[in-house]
Amino acid sequence: MQVRMLGKRWRLRFVPNLGANRGDCDPPTRPAKEIRVAAGLRGEERLEVLIHELVHAAGWHIDESFVERFAADAARVLWRLGYRDAKERR
Ligand SMILES: [Zn+2]
Repeated sequence: MQVRMLGKRWRLRFVPNLGANRGDCDPPTRPAKEIRVAAGLRGEERLEVLIHELVHAAGWHIDESFVERFAADAARVLWRLGYRDAKERR
């Protein structure tokens, strides 16, 4: 699917193998840019990685340790509030 962050578009894909990474994000300046998330992730971890890569997309300059901590905290709050992937509600 296409996602838009701060007026720029990325193609969001869930991919079977990202090597050692759980997700990655192409820089906002790249044409045909993508956000890739490891397809095998589930639950709060999948939510965390999605948030993490979206923060990179929106704020490419933002320090990795901030992104890591923000995504983990935001995912925890949203998870506790009951946000779930549609597949995980069944
Ligand atoms: Zn990162």
